[in-house]
Amino acid sequence: MAFEGLTERIQNAIHSLQRKGKITENDVKESMREIRLALLEADVNYGVVKDFIKTVRERAIGAEVLESLTPAQQIVKIVNEELVKVMGEKAVPLNKSAKIPTVIMMVGLQGAGKTTTAGKLALKLKNEQKARPLMIAADVYRPAAVDQLKIIGEQIDVPVFEMGTDVDPVEIVRQGMAKAQEQKNDYVLIDTAGRLQIDEKLMDELAQIKELTHPDEILLTVDAMTGQNAVEVAKGFNDQLDVTGVVLTKLDGDTRGGAALSIRAVTGKPIKFIGQGEKLTDLDVFYPDRMASRILG
Ligand code: GDP
Repeated sequence: MAFEGLTERIQNAIHSLQRKGKITENDVKESMREIRLALLEADVNYGVVKDFIKTVRERAIGAEVLESLTPAQQIVKIVNEELVKVMGEKAVPLNKSAKIPTVIMMVGLQGAGKTTTAGKLALKLKNEQKARPLMIAADVYRPAAVDQLKIIGEQIDVPVFEMGTDVDPVEIVRQGMAKAQEQKNDYVLIDTAGRLQIDEKLMDELAQIKELTHPDEILLTVDAMTGQNAVEVAKGFNDQLDVTGVVLTKLDGDTRGGAALSIRAVTGKPIKFIGQGEKLTDLDVFYPDRMASRILG
């Protein structure tokens, strides 16, 4: 289960506070040490942990908390509030263009869930906004990525523009965009290539597609299971492409929590959606407050 270790350890720290009647500054420090270790073990970015603990500690040792009738409860509330803050406070909606089509460029490393997420998002737009999206298959490197997108398109009844794997992806996108104009699609989702790691050629190609399409949204898909690595990947993509949002996938697995808690603070970019399963309906808007509740258990 996601966040299992983190939840258990934070709860333990809180329970030991709750067992005490009066709470001293030292008790707070002790529990903050435990929470700090819990966060580090959950693979949360070191700088994020440091700032988080400092803020919570400062707020918690204030007289209005320690001298209140329910100090432990107040501290739980502070931890919760700061978790929400670190994850960006509020859900951030998808950008929408004033004139159609809204262009969403999907980027990410191979295996992160980019192609699946493109399908999930197209389905969501279709169901919730009665949208008529077009998906463009521009991942010509991963074997079978084009076929995979076509199969997904058939499953959700969304057209897929493809030109096989022997054409330059920038050209595929150019022609796909023309097709979308012609058919008056209101959304275009571009499934771009991923690699096993960030490299110059990949970034060049993505920059060219960005330049060509002026996307309203560059959504980076990262795998929550990869913890700190997901954060590094997010930083890398954001430095090069200035992404507009992140989709965190595989939160149905036993991820420790590091990516969810670090990405916003490290990149300044919001997590917009979370993937919670392999089915095409398993995509949810990311709500920092709900995620904080889930982490606190
Ligand atoms: P891409 O290489 O980034 O395009 O990755 P894919 O879309 O092919 O996804 C890689 C694998 O991850 C596939 O088996 C997907 O079914 C799986 N996947 C994607 N998102 C999720 C998710 O949220 N939860 C789970 N459990 N699996 C996912």
